[in-house]
Amino acid sequence: MRDVLQLNADYTPMKVIRWERAIELSLDEKVVVVASWPGRFVRSPSLAIPWPAVVALRRYSVFRGKVRFSTRSVQARDNFTCAYCGLRPLLADGRPDRVQLTMDHVIPRAQAKEGRVYLPWSRKWVAVTCWENAATACRSCNSRKADRTPTQARMPLRIYPRVPTQTDALRMTLARLMKLPEPWLEWLPATVTGTEATPALPDEASFERA
Ligand SMILES: [Zn+2]
Repeated sequence: MRDVLQLNADYTPMKVIRWERAIELSLDEKVVVVASWPGRFVRSPSLAIPWPAVVALRRYSVFRGKVRFSTRSVQARDNFTCAYCGLRPLLADGRPDRVQLTMDHVIPRAQAKEGRVYLPWSRKWVAVTCWENAATACRSCNSRKADRTPTQARMPLRIYPRVPTQTDALRMTLARLMKLPEPWLEWLPATVTGTEATPALPDEASFERA
């Protein structure tokens, strides 16, 4: 593992970058090196610098990235948790068991009008397949809900589907790694590494009761 975790200027984790890029940013004084790999150096004929493991931007950067839509990304955004019952199936090694999860169209395709659906919680029309109408559901919730809205099925959402934030995008990247490097752990909240479930919405936030 030679990749580098990049933090924002406020030390919130942003993304994973190649080590070459980290060195470049460091030489340009765009980042400070926060942690290095013990005992490892990047060497050239003229210099030997500690191999960066974590860097932080000197100036705050606002996330404008776009994430490609996929079932896997929806599940990572939702921290591999069923949006209806909160089940978070895990494999023996503690990683999420994706086989037990599906992607649910919150307002079902069967109720779409010309490919669009109305989202009561955000009061807008969106394409039936988009971030804001896609939620992670366990197999049993998905089949129980069937072609109904959460209200019709009496299955309130625990979390509202959203366009991925930078943290969501980072969670997607980390979910593809088998093991997280030790020097990164201190900078990654448990809800980002996937080792902890994300809290559900408070009850009163449910659009069912709004
Ligand atoms: Zn469920």
